[in-house]
Amino acid sequence: MARELIGPVCRLCRRERMKLFLKGSKCDTMRCPIERRPYPPGMHGRGRIRESEYLLQLREKQKARRIYGLLEKQFRTLYAKAVRQPGITGENLMRLLELRLDNVVYRAGFASSRNQARQFVRHGHVAVNGRRVTIPSYTLRKDDVVSIRDKGRKMIVIRHNVDTLDRAVPQWLDVDKPELRATVRDLPIREQIDVPVREQLIVELYSK
Ligand code: SF4
Repeated sequence: MARELIGPVCRLCRRERMKLFLKGSKCDTMRCPIERRPYPPGMHGRGRIRESEYLLQLREKQKARRIYGLLEKQFRTLYAKAVRQPGITGENLMRLLELRLDNVVYRAGFASSRNQARQFVRHGHVAVNGRRVTIPSYTLRKDDVVSIRDKGRKMIVIRHNVDTLDRAVPQWLDVDKPELRATVRDLPIREQIDVPVREQLIVELYSK
Protein backbone atom coordinates (compact mmCIF):
# COMPACT_ATOMS: atom_id res chain seq x y z
CA MET A 1 0.00 0.00 0.00
CA ALA A 2 1.24 3.43 -0.81
CA ARG A 3 2.81 4.69 2.38
CA GLU A 4 0.90 7.95 2.49
CA LEU A 5 -2.37 6.03 2.28
CA ILE A 6 -1.69 4.32 5.60
CA GLY A 7 -2.12 7.53 7.60
CA PRO A 8 -5.12 9.86 7.88
CA VAL A 9 -6.16 9.79 4.23
CA CYS A 10 -8.91 12.37 4.62
CA ARG A 11 -6.15 14.96 4.89
CA LEU A 12 -5.22 14.10 1.30
CA CYS A 13 -8.71 15.02 0.14
CA ARG A 14 -8.61 18.23 2.13
CA ARG A 15 -5.23 19.04 0.60
CA GLU A 16 -6.78 18.69 -2.87
CA ARG A 17 -9.95 20.48 -1.71
CA MET A 18 -12.15 17.77 -3.10
CA LYS A 19 -13.45 14.29 -2.34
CA LEU A 20 -11.05 11.65 -3.62
CA PHE A 21 -13.21 8.80 -2.27
CA LEU A 22 -10.41 7.01 -0.45
CA LYS A 23 -12.45 5.67 2.47
CA GLY A 24 -15.31 3.69 1.03
CA SER A 25 -18.75 4.21 2.53
CA LYS A 26 -17.72 7.07 4.84
CA CYS A 27 -17.12 9.23 1.77
CA ASP A 28 -20.83 9.41 0.98
CA THR A 29 -21.89 10.47 4.45
CA MET A 30 -21.83 13.70 6.44
CA ARG A 31 -18.92 12.24 8.40
CA CYS A 32 -16.70 13.10 5.44
CA PRO A 33 -14.40 15.87 6.73
CA ILE A 34 -14.63 17.72 3.39
CA GLU A 35 -18.24 18.53 4.27
CA ARG A 36 -17.19 20.33 7.43
CA ARG A 37 -13.67 21.54 6.63
CA PRO A 38 -13.29 22.04 2.89
CA TYR A 39 -9.87 23.68 3.17
CA PRO A 40 -6.33 22.24 3.35
CA PRO A 41 -5.17 20.82 6.70
CA GLY A 42 -2.62 22.48 8.92
CA MET A 43 -2.15 25.86 10.48
CA HIS A 44 -2.04 27.76 7.17
CA GLY A 45 -4.84 25.78 5.55
CA ARG A 46 -7.18 28.73 5.37
CA GLY A 47 -4.51 31.22 4.28
CA ARG A 48 -4.19 32.63 0.79
CA ILE A 49 -2.08 30.55 -1.59
CA ARG A 50 -0.45 32.09 -4.62
CA GLU A 51 -1.42 29.80 -7.48
CA SER A 52 1.55 29.48 -9.80
CA GLU A 53 1.49 27.41 -12.98
CA TYR A 54 3.83 24.93 -11.37
CA LEU A 55 1.59 24.60 -8.32
CA LEU A 56 -1.43 23.85 -10.50
CA GLN A 57 0.47 21.15 -12.36
CA LEU A 58 1.84 19.67 -9.17
CA ARG A 59 -1.58 19.57 -7.51
CA GLU A 60 -3.08 17.83 -10.53
CA LYS A 61 -0.41 15.16 -10.47
CA GLN A 62 -0.77 14.67 -6.72
CA LYS A 63 -4.52 14.38 -7.10
CA ALA A 64 -4.25 11.63 -9.74
CA ARG A 65 -1.61 9.81 -7.75
CA ARG A 66 -3.71 9.88 -4.61
CA ILE A 67 -6.95 8.85 -6.29
CA TYR A 68 -5.30 5.72 -7.64
CA GLY A 69 -3.05 5.24 -4.59
CA LEU A 70 0.35 5.26 -6.26
CA LEU A 71 3.70 6.29 -4.92
CA GLU A 72 5.66 8.92 -6.84
CA LYS A 73 8.03 6.32 -8.27
CA GLN A 74 5.19 4.07 -9.44
CA PHE A 75 3.46 7.03 -11.00
CA ARG A 76 6.61 8.08 -12.84
CA THR A 77 7.11 4.56 -14.15
CA LEU A 78 3.55 4.48 -15.44
CA TYR A 79 4.01 7.88 -17.04
CA ALA A 80 7.15 6.63 -18.83
CA LYS A 81 5.09 3.72 -20.15
CA ALA A 82 2.40 6.14 -21.35
CA VAL A 83 5.02 8.19 -23.20
CA ARG A 84 6.24 5.10 -25.04
CA GLN A 85 2.76 4.20 -26.25
CA PRO A 86 1.39 5.66 -29.49
CA GLY A 87 -1.29 8.34 -29.12
CA ILE A 88 -1.80 11.16 -26.63
CA THR A 89 0.37 10.72 -23.56
CA GLY A 90 -2.17 12.11 -21.09
CA GLU A 91 -4.89 9.78 -22.33
CA ASN A 92 -2.51 6.84 -22.33
CA LEU A 93 -1.69 7.61 -18.71
CA MET A 94 -5.34 7.72 -17.68
CA ARG A 95 -6.02 4.46 -19.52
CA LEU A 96 -3.11 2.71 -17.84
CA LEU A 97 -4.32 3.90 -14.45
CA GLU A 98 -7.84 2.62 -15.14
CA LEU A 99 -6.58 -0.75 -16.31
CA ARG A 100 -4.77 -1.51 -13.08
CA LEU A 101 -6.18 -4.65 -11.50
CA ASP A 102 -7.02 -2.96 -8.18
CA ASN A 103 -8.92 -0.22 -10.00
CA VAL A 104 -10.97 -2.73 -11.99
CA VAL A 105 -11.89 -4.63 -8.81
CA TYR A 106 -13.05 -1.30 -7.39
CA ARG A 107 -14.89 -0.23 -10.54
CA ALA A 108 -16.69 -3.56 -10.70
CA GLY A 109 -18.14 -2.87 -7.25
CA PHE A 110 -16.38 -5.74 -5.46
CA ALA A 111 -14.57 -3.31 -3.16
CA SER A 112 -15.70 -0.12 -1.47
CA SER A 113 -12.45 1.72 -2.18
CA ARG A 114 -9.32 1.23 -4.27
CA ASN A 115 -7.48 0.67 -1.01
CA GLN A 116 -9.74 -2.22 -0.14
CA ALA A 117 -9.48 -3.58 -3.70
CA ARG A 118 -5.70 -3.53 -3.36
CA GLN A 119 -5.99 -5.55 -0.18
CA PHE A 120 -8.22 -8.17 -1.82
CA VAL A 121 -5.71 -8.55 -4.65
CA ARG A 122 -2.73 -8.78 -2.31
CA HIS A 123 -4.48 -11.42 -0.20
CA GLY A 124 -5.00 -13.62 -3.23
CA HIS A 125 -8.77 -13.26 -3.57
CA VAL A 126 -8.65 -12.16 -7.22
CA ALA A 127 -7.98 -14.09 -10.40
CA VAL A 128 -7.35 -12.92 -13.94
CA ASN A 129 -8.45 -15.38 -16.62
CA GLY A 130 -8.74 -18.05 -13.92
CA ARG A 131 -5.26 -17.58 -12.49
CA ARG A 132 -4.53 -15.99 -9.12
CA VAL A 133 -2.86 -12.59 -9.44
CA THR A 134 -1.58 -10.80 -6.33
CA ILE A 135 -0.11 -7.72 -7.99
CA PRO A 136 -2.46 -4.69 -7.65
CA SER A 137 -0.64 -2.82 -10.43
CA TYR A 138 -1.15 -5.67 -12.93
CA THR A 139 -2.27 -4.09 -16.22
CA LEU A 140 -5.33 -5.69 -17.74
CA ARG A 141 -5.94 -6.09 -21.45
CA LYS A 142 -9.00 -6.24 -23.61
CA ASP A 143 -11.07 -9.41 -22.99
CA ASP A 144 -9.35 -10.19 -19.68
CA VAL A 145 -11.72 -11.67 -17.13
CA VAL A 146 -11.34 -10.66 -13.49
CA SER A 147 -13.04 -12.84 -10.91
CA ILE A 148 -13.21 -13.32 -7.17
CA ARG A 149 -11.74 -16.65 -6.13
CA ASP A 150 -13.54 -19.26 -4.00
CA LYS A 151 -12.39 -18.06 -0.59
CA GLY A 152 -13.25 -14.47 -1.46
CA ARG A 153 -16.75 -15.47 -2.55
CA LYS A 154 -17.52 -16.46 1.02
CA MET A 155 -16.26 -13.22 2.48
CA ILE A 156 -19.06 -11.16 4.00
CA VAL A 157 -17.35 -7.90 3.12
CA ILE A 158 -17.29 -8.71 -0.60
CA ARG A 159 -20.88 -9.96 -0.57
CA HIS A 160 -21.90 -6.83 1.30
CA ASN A 161 -20.12 -4.61 -1.22
CA VAL A 162 -21.77 -6.31 -4.17
CA ASP A 163 -25.22 -6.08 -2.56
CA THR A 164 -25.01 -2.51 -1.32
CA LEU A 165 -22.66 -0.46 -3.49
CA ASP A 166 -24.60 1.54 -6.00
CA ARG A 167 -21.70 2.47 -8.25
CA ALA A 168 -22.14 3.04 -11.98
CA VAL A 169 -20.12 0.49 -13.92
CA PRO A 170 -18.08 2.09 -16.72
CA GLN A 171 -19.06 1.22 -20.30
CA TRP A 172 -15.79 -0.54 -21.00
CA LEU A 173 -16.44 -3.09 -18.28
CA ASP A 174 -18.99 -5.93 -18.18
CA VAL A 175 -19.88 -6.99 -14.68
CA ASP A 176 -21.64 -10.21 -13.73
CA LYS A 177 -22.48 -9.54 -10.09
CA PRO A 178 -23.92 -12.96 -9.14
CA GLU A 179 -20.83 -14.64 -10.59
CA LEU A 180 -18.49 -11.98 -9.14
CA ARG A 181 -16.86 -11.60 -12.50
CA ALA A 182 -15.88 -8.59 -14.63
CA THR A 183 -14.72 -8.57 -18.24
CA VAL A 184 -12.72 -5.79 -19.87
CA ARG A 185 -14.99 -5.33 -22.86
CA ASP A 186 -12.83 -2.61 -24.40
CA LEU A 187 -9.93 -0.36 -23.55
CA PRO A 188 -11.31 2.75 -21.84
CA ILE A 189 -11.29 6.04 -23.71
CA ARG A 190 -10.90 9.33 -21.84
CA GLU A 191 -14.60 10.24 -21.99
CA GLN A 192 -15.40 7.02 -20.12
CA ILE A 193 -13.07 7.81 -17.22
CA ASP A 194 -14.91 9.95 -14.69
CA VAL A 195 -11.88 11.10 -12.76
CA PRO A 196 -11.60 14.89 -12.25
CA VAL A 197 -8.00 15.15 -13.38
CA ARG A 198 -6.62 17.45 -16.07
CA GLU A 199 -3.97 15.07 -17.35
CA GLN A 200 -2.51 17.68 -19.69
CA LEU A 201 -1.16 19.52 -16.64
CA ILE A 202 0.59 16.34 -15.52
CA VAL A 203 2.19 15.98 -18.94
CA GLU A 204 3.34 19.61 -18.77
CA LEU A 205 4.81 19.02 -15.32
CA TYR A 206 6.79 15.95 -16.34
CA SER A 207 7.88 17.49 -19.63
CA LYS A 208 9.82 20.29 -17.90
FE1 SF4 B 1 -12.01 11.91 1.27
FE2 SF4 B 1 -13.67 9.94 1.79
FE3 SF4 B 1 -12.26 11.09 3.77
FE4 SF4 B 1 -14.26 12.38 2.58
S1 SF4 B 1 -14.40 10.53 3.83
S2 SF4 B 1 -12.28 13.24 3.06
S3 SF4 B 1 -14.06 11.67 0.45
S4 SF4 B 1 -11.46 9.89 2.06
